[in-house]
Amino acid sequence: MQFDWVYTFSQLWNMSFWKASLVVIELSLIVWILGTILGFILALARQAKNPIIAKGISLYIWFFRSLPLLVLLVFVFNLPQMFPSTSSLLSSPFIAGMIAMLISESAYISEIHRSGLSSIPKGQIEAGKALGIRYVGIQKYIVIPQALRVAMPNLGNEFVTIVKLTSLVSIISLTEILLVGQRLYTQNFLVIETMVAVAFYYVLIVTVFGWAVSWFEKKLDFSRRQPGLLTADDPLNHVQYTSQVPTAQKKPSVDYVGEYALEAHQVVKSYGEHHVLKGIDLQVKWGQVVSIIGPSGSGKTTFIRTLNGLETLTKGHVSLLGQPFLSSDTSPADSKNYQNNIIHVGMVFQNFNLFPHKTILENVTLAPSYHNKSNALIHKLTALKVLEKVGMKQHANKYPHQLSGGQQQRVAIARALAMQPSVILFDEPTSALDPELVGEVLKVIEDLAKEGMTMMIVTHEMDFALQVSDRVIFMEGGHIVVDASPAQIKASDNQRLQQFMGIESNAS
Ligand code: ADP
Ligand code: MG
Repeated sequence: MQFDWVYTFSQLWNMSFWKASLVVIELSLIVWILGTILGFILALARQAKNPIIAKGISLYIWFFRSLPLLVLLVFVFNLPQMFPSTSSLLSSPFIAGMIAMLISESAYISEIHRSGLSSIPKGQIEAGKALGIRYVGIQKYIVIPQALRVAMPNLGNEFVTIVKLTSLVSIISLTEILLVGQRLYTQNFLVIETMVAVAFYYVLIVTVFGWAVSWFEKKLDFSRRQPGLLTADDPLNHVQYTSQVPTAQKKPSVDYVGEYALEAHQVVKSYGEHHVLKGIDLQVKWGQVVSIIGPSGSGKTTFIRTLNGLETLTKGHVSLLGQPFLSSDTSPADSKNYQNNIIHVGMVFQNFNLFPHKTILENVTLAPSYHNKSNALIHKLTALKVLEKVGMKQHANKYPHQLSGGQQQRVAIARALAMQPSVILFDEPTSALDPELVGEVLKVIEDLAKEGMTMMIVTHEMDFALQVSDRVIFMEGGHIVVDASPAQIKASDNQRLQQFMGIESNAS
């Protein structure tokens, strides 16, 4: 049997095929884009605390992933037989096909997003919360861009699947590529020749869009971006800092009552039967630097995290700026006092938790811009000023992965400073650093202490704690065991404290 090449080639100019290709592209793009959005919403809803929502979504995903698309297509297209009111919508094969594909694909794509979402470290979300960014903002600026980057290769792959699945819509007589082919070969019986042409159109679409997707993937991949130093001719280098650009402050910009910046009253934190904090009272005066030391597992991190709402309180309450801030009665998410005032508390984490998809400058401007949409230039200038303060201004255009650990931690301090907090909490800011990088971070904290910044610092750097602090707190077993000045600490005859300090200084 002869293969009719001339006929096959002539099909490459067949307008019906090109029109059908447009239908396929249109349908695939709509299903892919809407499916990506819907799938993301499903993936988020599946994590909902409400068990009915979470279970309902799981059921939806399980059911529509199990159902063959062909069955769903026929079902949706014939729905008007049972519900005539749907006929105006579903009598169009394009709309019916789109809806059926969307239902099925959103279930698949939500699983792709789930893997993207679970790849975002918890610290990213906590860093956003500590900057006072709410749920939607955290999703929009922190989670979605990173999750999308992780999901992109699989989403690209899913686009290819969708393009191929559109051929099934021929069953409900949508004039797509396969149906055009079928109509041709039922007349001329050149089945193989026609199907070669059909194959050509599918391969063309998948190839062109495959390129587009991998281009987009590369664009999202911040690890490929070139590091950029702030050049001498960068306009940002030539604007004079105005008096409007503030730095660290000793007193809050809001009205406050009393002499304390932060107060913890009978703070109790338990995880089930495990009582971690057993009733802690602490008052921190304006401008005071309080170091917290103590053996591993004594509850230092838990204490710091309950002070800024990253952990809920089991009992007790916390006041900030002399006003109620957190209590065991209301969760931070539901508390107006918390939402309004969290911006006054800065937090620096052990693992920096910089946003890897944002430049250093964007890391620092994110929260100020989120809280005050106008004044973009002021936010940039403030950011540059605080970056200059921590010696990182020249690196403003780099990405976090292009910096050393010490540099990243200095940026994290600048990010906290840009919010002009009244208090900054540090949780072992130098523990994740190589020994030679510890000094540069401690120097920045020391400078802040000299400026009168109110700070609480969990640390194992004993010499540093004794040098910069007004008070040193020794925690053990969920209690504050010693709360004294550095001089008193050095002279203390508390055996546990002496023993602990001995161990720590031997370790360092
Ligand atoms: P430290 O910072 O002083 O080393 P932590 O505050 O991290 O101590 O931990 C104190 C205790 O609380 C530890 O015994 C730890 O296992 C427990 N803990 C901390 N976080 C959790 C949690 N999310 N769930 C259960 N237990 C926890
Ligand atoms: Mg800790």
